[in-house]
Amino acid sequence: MPLYIVSTPIGNLGDITVRASKILAECDLILAEDTRTSRKLLDHLGITVPTNAYHDFNKEKVTPGIVTQLEDGKNIALITDAGTPGIADPAFYLVRAAIASGGIDVVPVPGASAFLSALVASGLPTDRFIFENFLPHKSTQRRKLFESIKGEPRTIIFYETPHRIVKTLEDIKAVLGDVRIVIARELTKIHEEFLRGSAEELLSHFANRPPKGEMVVLLNTRIRENF
Ligand code: SAM
Repeated sequence: MPLYIVSTPIGNLGDITVRASKILAECDLILAEDTRTSRKLLDHLGITVPTNAYHDFNKEKVTPGIVTQLEDGKNIALITDAGTPGIADPAFYLVRAAIASGGIDVVPVPGASAFLSALVASGLPTDRFIFENFLPHKSTQRRKLFESIKGEPRTIIFYETPHRIVKTLEDIKAVLGDVRIVIARELTKIHEEFLRGSAEELLSHFANRPPKGEMVVLLNTRIRENF
């Protein structure tokens, strides 16, 4: 029976789709990255289907059992803490195992994803882009990555945390100079905000207002003028 890859909201609960709600309500089991986080959404939707944890630390142990349940005819939905499973989480591992087993259909149930929402409202070119996920934690490795994208015509998108963003902006400034950057913060939530400018301008902004909340960072190395 199918493994459904179900997107859920990235903040605003109104972004759950009608199809996602129906599949979550009708499946036999919901796999969630953090069952307590997902329970809030499921309670909001009035869904009482049992949940099991599926995350980076148990994926190797639990994947064979999940594949067996799917082969035995169970309908299973995989969700993540927020957004689309497989984007910056271990969903790929289960999808690959389900496909390798032979007769299991893997069915996407699309919806929100932070990087795509950030891209389409960023004002940076959307025709071609690269998604880099979370950047390396070490400055030397981040700088190496920025060196490798010098002159890159595609828009670069990555996820960053509030406690690393200042160091990352310093690395961008050192390697890529005054390229245009967009920081999309708290998308779909009350304090949604788009910050646009050079690394230097954004560093000045954060000197007065310490960075907070969830964020997507976008840049394009070919765009330097204000926009
Ligand atoms: N699966 C998710 C998706 O489809 O976007 C991404 C999960 S990843 C573990 C979490 C990161 O996504 C956060 O640290 C942040 O960079 C980004 N993110 C998630 N929700 C966001 C939001 N509402 N606004 C801005 N960034 C968000």
